[in-house]
Amino acid sequence: GGTDVTVIGLGDMGRALASALVAAGHRTTVWNRSADKADELVAQGAVRAASVEEALSASPLTLVCLIDYEVTRTLLGPVAEALRGRTLVQLSNGTPEQARSLEAWATGQGAGYLDGGIMAVPGTIATPEAFVLYSGAEKHFTAHRPVFEAFGTAKYLGSDTGLASLYDLALLSGMDYLFAGFFHAVAVATSHKDVTAAGFTEFLVPWLTNMAHQLPALAADVDSDGEPAYTQGLDVLLAAARNMAQAARDAGVRAEYFDRAAADLERQLAEGGEAFTASGAVRALRVPGVSG
Ligand code: NDP
Repeated sequence: GGTDVTVIGLGDMGRALASALVAAGHRTTVWNRSADKADELVAQGAVRAASVEEALSASPLTLVCLIDYEVTRTLLGPVAEALRGRTLVQLSNGTPEQARSLEAWATGQGAGYLDGGIMAVPGTIATPEAFVLYSGAEKHFTAHRPVFEAFGTAKYLGSDTGLASLYDLALLSGMDYLFAGFFHAVAVATSHKDVTAAGFTEFLVPWLTNMAHQLPALAADVDSDGEPAYTQGLDVLLAAARNMAQAARDAGVRAEYFDRAAADLERQLAEGGEAFTASGAVRALRVPGVSG
């Protein structure tokens, strides 16, 4: 049977979440600063709350999907009493520290708290492609899991409330570099009058897909202290980095990334390094003395 759920924040993502809850048969109460964003949901069967307080009071479980944590605190702060004995799930994008701080505040108000990271776009919510990450006290995840499954796969990461944000932002970081790589590659390739982005991308997709399949082997090298399974000569990589920088410059494309990569490899060679390893590459990114 359906559960009572509240959704606060009806932007593109919040509307997709609320719509999935209605479709899954949950009694869904919604609130948004711009009230008209609830119109379509109300037509589907959701209930419009007149205030944040009314929204919180309507359900034992409230999901928040707003622009950030600051707005969340601004909206919930004045009506925190209404959270007592209820569970708050923050799905807005934020850092692990923001998640831990909001949990401390919410539990201080007598509320249960979970933090979440949505790994989907609005159009894939409630499809098998979507997954949402959760962290915090496991009992809250277990209790509300059937509700969470309306969005796609629900993955529980652990009791440290910061974990969902950590994974979320690390996954987004990987995606950002992937897209940045795509934009750079397309800029270089389409500097030639005979090359279109679409034509070039027919090569890029299988190439990147093959490379993505190498990642688990690299990850195993990062995790293990033993002999790395994958190595490559730093000198070989340096030659390629210089060529990528030069080809970009010749094509009229900015080359800072590859200039920096080449400088990094030169430094490693100067320090007596010989082989590139995945664990060495990850280590080189770490700032000494800081850990999450
Ligand atoms: P939108 O810009 O569509 O929605 C932003 C929401 O925040 C709206 O409900 C907006 O209210 C509200 N808001 C902003 N400022 C204020 C304020 N000062 N007071 C009250 N409410 C405010 O963003 P999305 O729905 O796309 O994103 C929401 C969250 O979901 C973000 O954290 C985002 O990172 C995350 N997310 C989004 C994805 C996506 O593909 N869209 C993917 C994964 C996560 P109003 O309508 O009144 O402006």
